[in-house]
Amino acid sequence: MIKEFQLRVAPQVAYNEENIKEYLAREEGLDARTLNQVRVLKRSIDARQRNILVNLKVRAYINEIPHDNSFIKTEYPDVSHSPRVIVVGAGPGGLFAALKLVELGLCPIVLERGKDVRERKKDLAQISRTHKVDEESNYCFGEGGAGAYSDGKLYTRSKKRGSVDKILNVFCQHGASTAILADVHPHIGTDKLPKVIENMRNTIIKSGGEVHFHTKMTSLILDGNKVVGVEAVSTFESNTPIEKTFRGPVILATGHSARDIYRYLAEAEIEMEAKGIAVGVRLEHPSELIDQIQYHNKNGRGKYLPAAEYSFVTQVGGRGVYSFCMCPGGFVIPAATGPAQIVTNGMSPANRGTKWSNSGMVVQINPEDIEGDNLLRMMTFQEQLERDTWQQGNMKQTAPAQRMADFVNNRLSYDLPSTSYAPGLISSPLHFWMPKFITSRLQSAFKTFGKQAHGFLTNEATLIASETRTSSPVRILRDRETLMHVRLQGLFPCAEGAGYSGGIVSAGIDGERCAEMANAYVNSL
Ligand SMILES: Cc1cc2nc3c(=O)[nH]c(=O)nc-3n(C[C@H](O)[C@H](O)[C@H](O)COP(=O)(O)OP(=O)(O)OC[C@H]3O[C@@H](n4cnc5c(N)ncnc54)[C@H](O)[C@@H]3O)c2cc1C
Repeated sequence: MIKEFQLRVAPQVAYNEENIKEYLAREEGLDARTLNQVRVLKRSIDARQRNILVNLKVRAYINEIPHDNSFIKTEYPDVSHSPRVIVVGAGPGGLFAALKLVELGLCPIVLERGKDVRERKKDLAQISRTHKVDEESNYCFGEGGAGAYSDGKLYTRSKKRGSVDKILNVFCQHGASTAILADVHPHIGTDKLPKVIENMRNTIIKSGGEVHFHTKMTSLILDGNKVVGVEAVSTFESNTPIEKTFRGPVILATGHSARDIYRYLAEAEIEMEAKGIAVGVRLEHPSELIDQIQYHNKNGRGKYLPAAEYSFVTQVGGRGVYSFCMCPGGFVIPAATGPAQIVTNGMSPANRGTKWSNSGMVVQINPEDIEGDNLLRMMTFQEQLERDTWQQGNMKQTAPAQRMADFVNNRLSYDLPSTSYAPGLISSPLHFWMPKFITSRLQSAFKTFGKQAHGFLTNEATLIASETRTSSPVRILRDRETLMHVRLQGLFPCAEGAGYSGGIVSAGIDGERCAEMANAYVNSL
């Protein structure tokens, strides 16, 4: 017999299958010897009270052998002789688009300006060591995109449960733990993601698709109002850059940091609009302190609970101020994509075990907040702030930083707490040189958050400047039904860089949708 149960149990029961079996036997009057397996289907922590409980939905196999169907498998046929579709960018948007094309019987040709996910790692280490950013291989560019060396949080505000489940199941098929199907806040971890991404690439190649690293799209090939391919520069097969042409409809999934692509699209008068962004700082606390606050316990999270998360949001002066991409037990990282920039972001390993917890603390900025009507003005604003931050950081990746309470009280910090940010910090009056529009709102919001969570507003926490790459600064205009560009047939602006998603899962969902629409387009030709 297979039976499902809703349980509300202590943390030491919730994270151990044997303990769940014992609990079921005791509380439900079952014979423990007949319980062959217990699978956790959903898990969420209720930390509202001092006594923390975990809600579980479990499936018990009683005198029953479980089938190996812990995730739903997708079949990937041989597509080597099928019509080709060009996918530009191997971030989550591009990779899920490519896999979906295979599933639908089309042959994806993936172009990625950066290196494969393993090679890329060496360039990330160099940023902290030498303060030099490789413009083609960094925390945003390379196989896996901005999502590869990230926190690997897989939750999304998308209400399309079926689409979210599909993305999570594809991750499981490629090596992610099936725990992501159960946890309400699923998380893979930066140490586990590269293998999963590698497996996704192998599926594409085994099915007959192609993946070209070191291959940067430079322009679209147009035939009237139809996109029929791309021009690219490649060092994939030789160290000397070679100009290459790839023919086929194009899914453009180049992410929010491909500023050369935005400049090209603007110059080529391909329809886009300026889009709101959110900008601010990374805020880093000792993770123990966040655990104490969130679990209402001076001893922190104890042996069984995961590092605590938080989420804050408020309105100040008509603009949203909120925590973004919270990384419990993680690292603050240097996410610049070029010289003379400092950009902060966060990531964490699967065990979320570092001494620090961080999040972006950002202020919403709308196109009308920035003077002029230039399409790229939000991007220019980001660039200026990143350059200013670099100058304040002594023209290296050393990030300007300030203690949190000092910032709120307009005081310079004489020293700084220890940090996970590997290139190092330099004390700096952020309240003084960052745009007032941002600092005044952050100061006010921090006071509100400090009241909501006692101990959160503290000089033990550090603000690290500047968090600027939270989303795309433009939206490439596409038709709502066909997902095709509003004027150019055969061009599918996709995922975060096109302004239609934010985060790994939503980029994956948009990638799949673009592939479906590209399939409909190919079939109509
Ligand atoms: C450090 C960090 C941590 C993050 N943590 C999380 C998290 O925990 N959870 C979450 O949901 N989201 C997280 N995000 C956000 C998430 O990574 C992005 O939302 C997601 O990766 C967007 O997917 P995408 O495919 O649209 O674009 P991207 O991931 O940006 O991928 C775009 C790809 O296109 C390539 N490219 C760009 N230009 C060209 C060109 N001209 N030719 C060929 N290739 C090109 C790039 O190299 C890149 O690989 C994080 C982001 C960062 C930077």
